[in-house]
Amino acid sequence: MDVKFTVLQRTFELHKEEYEEATLRALRSGWYVLGKELENFENQFSQYIGMKYGIGVNSGQDALILAVRALGIGEGDEVITQSNAYIASVFGITENGATPVFVEPDEYFGMDPEKLEAAITPKTKAILPVHLYGHICNMEKIREIADKYNLPIIEDCAQCHGSKINGVKAGSFSTISCFSFYPTKPLGAFGDAGICLTNDSDLNEKLRMLRFYGSRQKYVSEITGINTRMDEIQAANLSVGLKYLEDEKIYRQNISDKYLNGITNPLIKLPETRENTEHVYHIFGILCDKRDELIDFLAEKGIQVGIHYPIPPHLSPCYEYLGYKKGDFPIAEKYADHEVSLPIYAGMPDNEVEAVIEAINSFAG
Ligand SMILES: *Cc1c(COP(=O)(O)O)cnc(C)c1O
Repeated sequence: MDVKFTVLQRTFELHKEEYEEATLRALRSGWYVLGKELENFENQFSQYIGMKYGIGVNSGQDALILAVRALGIGEGDEVITQSNAYIASVFGITENGATPVFVEPDEYFGMDPEKLEAAITPKTKAILPVHLYGHICNMEKIREIADKYNLPIIEDCAQCHGSKINGVKAGSFSTISCFSFYPTKPLGAFGDAGICLTNDSDLNEKLRMLRFYGSRQKYVSEITGINTRMDEIQAANLSVGLKYLEDEKIYRQNISDKYLNGITNPLIKLPETRENTEHVYHIFGILCDKRDELIDFLAEKGIQVGIHYPIPPHLSPCYEYLGYKKGDFPIAEKYADHEVSLPIYAGMPDNEVEAVIEAINSFAG
């Protein structure tokens, strides 16, 4: 058996003709940057999530950097995020000169609202929850605390396109929400792409300027900005992908059902879903005390898995200057040491899912 962690070609092939058509349409239009395809996609995607404005950018990373910048956050300011965030979530903060403050995750890998209030200081300028693995954080509680302190929320939605809490989608709880369309994400482009969503018309204008040399009008830079725009070919393809986002989510949820029902090995802790939420399973993350042995065992059987992520941000070499040490965020460190991501993607064949289940159940430690 040869089971890869992900095979992007299989997801592409589910709607190959439509992607090829969209690509040709964009190519033949003769207009490649800031055109109709992007405008369409910005409208479609913001409507899908339930936000007023969409601002397409070059990556999820740029979306996060611009979101923090648009809120006027910089040196001397603090932004609260999760200790188990992806490093790009934290770069959104530090690339603006601001300081990240970490809150530990709950048992669902999202920001623990019980620990949020203690992290708020007079320097706090925003809260940045990360909906890790495709499972929305406890946004109702987080929103309550943010409102109490009058703090804006920036949601990192790079892994959770379509995830919901009480029927409300991730990405609609914040002042600015940021999505990535990196090829492996629940909605993936064929290259890099990302988007900021907001309901605020001033922030919409500001984000549009920030992604376009700080200008509203070509060659008139009102503020300093960068050049980060989603191109027409990616936007045209993302409009196709958006049509099938719900189908592909169901495809992954069917795989997750099989894993949840089929994996019975007591050495494995399966992921749980909080009541009233919908998990879209960008990542199916299990915990295992004997992780290295498990990964080797699976590799021998031809099964490739992932780790998301092996080093928590506070222990990353780039953040040595923040002065953290091992033991400062034990929950994030525990996840970093024990997590294993199983293959899960739209187009993954049943026999491969069965092979993963069988292999894991035969792991004896
Ligand atoms: C992928 C990802 C990002 C960055 O998105 P890119 O498009 O790859 O720049 C940010 N945060 C999280 C949680 C991610 O998974």
